[in-house]
Amino acid sequence: MSEASEGISLPSIVSSPHPEENNTLALSEISQRDEVWDKHRLNSDVVESYYAGSEFSNYSERISDCAQFLDFRLVPNSETGVYKLKLSSARFCHVRHCPVCQWRRSLMWKAKAYKILPQLLIDYPKARWLFVTLTVKNCAITDLRKTLTWMNKGFSRFSELKAFPAEGYMKTVEVTRGKTPPGSAHPHFHVLMMVKPSYFGVGYLSQAKWVEMWRKSLRVDYKPILDVQALNPQDSLIGLLAEVIKYSVKESDLIADREWFLELTRQLHRTKAIAVGGVLRDYLRELEQEPGDLIGQDNEGDVDEGHLYFAWRQRQKKYRMVD
Ligand SMILES: [Zn+2]
Repeated sequence: MSEASEGISLPSIVSSPHPEENNTLALSEISQRDEVWDKHRLNSDVVESYYAGSEFSNYSERISDCAQFLDFRLVPNSETGVYKLKLSSARFCHVRHCPVCQWRRSLMWKAKAYKILPQLLIDYPKARWLFVTLTVKNCAITDLRKTLTWMNKGFSRFSELKAFPAEGYMKTVEVTRGKTPPGSAHPHFHVLMMVKPSYFGVGYLSQAKWVEMWRKSLRVDYKPILDVQALNPQDSLIGLLAEVIKYSVKESDLIADREWFLELTRQLHRTKAIAVGGVLRDYLRELEQEPGDLIGQDNEGDVDEGHLYFAWRQRQKKYRMVD
């Protein structure tokens, strides 16, 4: 995992035993970098309550069992002597819009990308990268599915244009709540494109040209908003990739409004979150699949210096240590 580690020191854990359940140490007190668990599980509680009593009540039941209990392994850093917590086991519900699972999934994808990228950079040392955001006008949330189908058709025409510069691409779908009109949906694509170095010479496309290509591919008569950013050679590709593989719906939008959220669930059912094309298919294809587990590969070796266990305390909105 790539999260910055604050580290924990073991003596502070063992010297503060509290027998009463409510006063046991919170996960957030022991490991600052694991404080995010509280936020995600709290949002899962909200989503669970939205699904309750709807046609998705089975999702509600599954989410209610998700990540209730976390088993962390203590991993020492041989240089600093500081310990950190490494998730060892937990049960996840795998419901698509469960905030905990969505967060874990994006971590797994990122970790996978980290492993795959070095080979790609060896095979294409001169490649340059673009980050392109393609948008359309906001649609009613009830038209989201239809709109995405139409956008995907547009993208496929776009990628077949002669001037389309990418040798390979990864495309993800993001949906945010539209402000105008209120309660609408703002679907857009984030596309990471691998282009030849000549893109920055003879093959360069102006902003106006990009917009015209996207407009033509969508077959609309307005100028759709489109943003192109080039990655500087010294910038980190993994950082950009992380931007592309982020959540398809941000958590604050998931929990903003029950009706919008339920309709979103209906509309996105069985739609694809990630698509990889061109030469990148050979490298990044597995990112199109749901990760097998949401725990994460452990590359910290076999060192096992004990475990700490935490349970979700719904009323306190915190994970607390249990025996
Ligand atoms: Zn879950």
